[in-house]
Amino acid sequence: MPSIPQRYRAIMRPAAAAMEPYDPQAADVRINLSANENTHGLAPSLRLAVDRALAKVATNRYPDPLAGDLRAAIAQVEGVDPAWVIVGNGGDELIFNLFLAFCDDGSRVLTCPPTFAVYGIYAELVGAQVVEVPRDPKTFEVRAREVVEAAASARVVCLTSPNNPTGTLVDPALVREVCAACPGIVLADEAYMEFAPAGSSARPLLNDCDNLVILHTFSKAYCLAGARVGYVLANPGIISALAAVRQPYSVSSLDQAAALAVMGRRDAMAPVITSIVDQRELVREELAKLPGATVWPSAANFLFVRLPHAHEVWERLRDEHSILVRDFSANPACPDCLRITVGTPGENAAVIKALSQLVKE
Ligand code: PMP
Repeated sequence: MPSIPQRYRAIMRPAAAAMEPYDPQAADVRINLSANENTHGLAPSLRLAVDRALAKVATNRYPDPLAGDLRAAIAQVEGVDPAWVIVGNGGDELIFNLFLAFCDDGSRVLTCPPTFAVYGIYAELVGAQVVEVPRDPKTFEVRAREVVEAAASARVVCLTSPNNPTGTLVDPALVREVCAACPGIVLADEAYMEFAPAGSSARPLLNDCDNLVILHTFSKAYCLAGARVGYVLANPGIISALAAVRQPYSVSSLDQAAALAVMGRRDAMAPVITSIVDQRELVREELAKLPGATVWPSAANFLFVRLPHAHEVWERLRDEHSILVRDFSANPACPDCLRITVGTPGENAAVIKALSQLVKE
């Protein structure tokens, strides 16, 4: 994607003019383990259910703006009233809308790098100031005391659990403490929570913490990254604020129908999720055997690994083995680190074999 010509940059909002077009750095590869998708795809019975649901969608009509049926299904599964749920065009849109609704010029958005880059980008777009409380560089745990302290002057605190790219959890007890300390909103981004041990979610805090926003997505465990559907659980007052700033038709009828079909049969996803979790532990053991490697525990569907000459390894993995993983080696918060999505057993075996070969050379 070409850069923005100066002719237009000069007349853009300064916060937008400072940006560059998003470059997904997509590569046409045999095995793509770079985006934390569920590489198994939908099981045939689920795919059939989605296809049937899509066939019934009236494409000549606008979608239901608040996705009533899907909202009700999510509410039932999450054990809340539908007033506590809002659906968005992927988690990304909900993060953007959260900042749009709650951040003003100079509002502080607290993040704990290395973490999901979108928080920083969207915060800057709406004119907010990003305040970083870096994670412990050895363990990648959040620095609890510093976060609680900085939360006192934050408009939004972003706590990602499990964290992307490190796989680290945030203790719900800390989420509670941060909610108490923060006069603004606390975002518990649980995009990968389906892969984490039971009891890891901040969900039980919802009733007590009226500034807690929990984010979920259908893009990861639920195999619908292509459909673009996410949702937020929060106090109905926060849901109203998000509903006020959203584009009414941002979630298409087709996407709503696909997500509803999957939500109704989510039990059918369980074996794949269990297999990914089991595979994650096997891949972790294998990665730890590579000479010079450090691999961190992960509660998500990916692993974070430090390897000698990681950038070169990443390049050769792509060019010589046609396997794409995500390169974080240039990020000062995590030098020489790569993030590897846990895929099917065959994909995982292929990436381990290729890495073993490359690291030995
Ligand atoms: N949160 C985290 C931590 C993520 O990694 C992602 C996707 N990479 C999202 C939210 C948003 O996901 P989506 O927009 O696909 O729902």
